[in-house]
Amino acid sequence: MRFDVLVVGGGPAGLIAARDVAGQGYDVLLVEEHPEIGEPVQCSGLFSIRGLKQLEVDLPRRAIAGVIRGGRFFSPGGEELEAYSKLDRAYVVERRLFDKELAKQAARAGARIALKTRAKGLRLGEKAKVALESSGREEVVEAEVVIAADGVRSRVASQLGLSTPRRIVAATQVEVESAEVEEDIAELYFGSRWAPNFYAWLLPKGEVCEVGVCVRGGGHPPRVYLERFMREHPIAGRKITGRSRLEYVKGAFPVARPKDTFAERVLLVGDAGGFVKASTGGGVITGGISARLAARACCLALEEGDFSAQFFRENYERAWKAELGRELEVHELIRRVFDSLSDSEIDALFKVAREEDIPSLMVKFPDTDRPYEFFMQLLEKERFVRAIERFLRLEI
Ligand SMILES: Cc1cc2nc3c(=O)[nH]c(=O)nc-3n(C[C@H](O)[C@H](O)[C@H](O)COP(=O)(O)OP(=O)(O)OC[C@H]3O[C@@H](n4cnc5c(N)ncnc54)[C@H](O)[C@@H]3O)c2cc1C
Repeated sequence: MRFDVLVVGGGPAGLIAARDVAGQGYDVLLVEEHPEIGEPVQCSGLFSIRGLKQLEVDLPRRAIAGVIRGGRFFSPGGEELEAYSKLDRAYVVERRLFDKELAKQAARAGARIALKTRAKGLRLGEKAKVALESSGREEVVEAEVVIAADGVRSRVASQLGLSTPRRIVAATQVEVESAEVEEDIAELYFGSRWAPNFYAWLLPKGEVCEVGVCVRGGGHPPRVYLERFMREHPIAGRKITGRSRLEYVKGAFPVARPKDTFAERVLLVGDAGGFVKASTGGGVITGGISARLAARACCLALEEGDFSAQFFRENYERAWKAELGRELEVHELIRRVFDSLSDSEIDALFKVAREEDIPSLMVKFPDTDRPYEFFMQLLEKERFVRAIERFLRLEI
């Protein structure tokens, strides 16, 4: 079988890329190894409203479980900061419904979606030849371009010898039936006892609440930290009133900027390309933007019949660097600064942040997707800069 474009992976990035390319009248096949789009869920579903608009996803009402207007942050020693405004900033979305909605959009645009179909091998030449396995049968399909949207451990990227993310964070989350949190505030908890080198969270989601931890290093699996956080955290532990667990979620995401995001006839999008906000772990909006840019480059390549690496460097890499490059850099810088701080240094930073009224600065910006402008203004806060100076010097 022959297609203009083969998309490997039916997560948000793959579905958006398939939708956009098929929408331009090209023949698209998307393969997903699981039997159902949206399963298993590996996400909290916190997406900025601005980002969703940019992805052109019109969500059905039932997919939106909550609206977030602010954040509350707790340092390891219990220092508290709050950034809240009355504006709707982000939705807490039912991720499985989100992915299904994207699949509908892709199918309506003309993309063919093959479930229970795994891409096993890729050969590049006159065309891209991809071996697919489905129900024990193997078949080779040909495509002009392959869009790799196969997630953080992208098989396509490693087969091509492209760089795959070196720094990966493991996350796990549980849904509890009740917690004493405001319905529109996400709470983030720092501290090596609860979530080494990242954070733990309470995220209100309509009638339930998500409790999760992201962990890098630390010596135990995330589940151990999650149980400890729920049982022993002096603040969060008391807020979690519902002891029945409704759903477990686990997964991983990259926290290093993308490096290789293309090759001849191949484009990497979403987690596969490392398009994740390293400071928060959110990858759906940035990954979706990368997918839209890849789709555009792909359509251009099909129009011009040029599938060279050089063409994609000019039409994909350049585009994502212009749109996302400096934002992802700032995310990574923030991540590296936090990674190098001890618990007591984070406590001290919280104190300075309060004295410098950083929360008032935070609420001037609509969401965390684009932190560059925020960061530039942060650098004008002298005492804050002095507190993180030695880390900035390490990084610049
Ligand atoms: C616990 C947790 C909470 C998170 N919370 C948020 C959040 O609140 N907001 C946010 O923006 N991000 C969040 N993220 C990150 C977000 O889930 C990812 O960034 C996002 O799913 C990446 O989308 P993607 O399409 O690139 O990859 P994925 O969603 O990983 O999709 C890749 C797909 O490819 C398929 N696949 C892989 N290999 C093959 C193959 N060889 N053949 C066929 N199919 C294949 C997989 O089955 C999968 O369906 C969270 C992550 C975790 C782990």
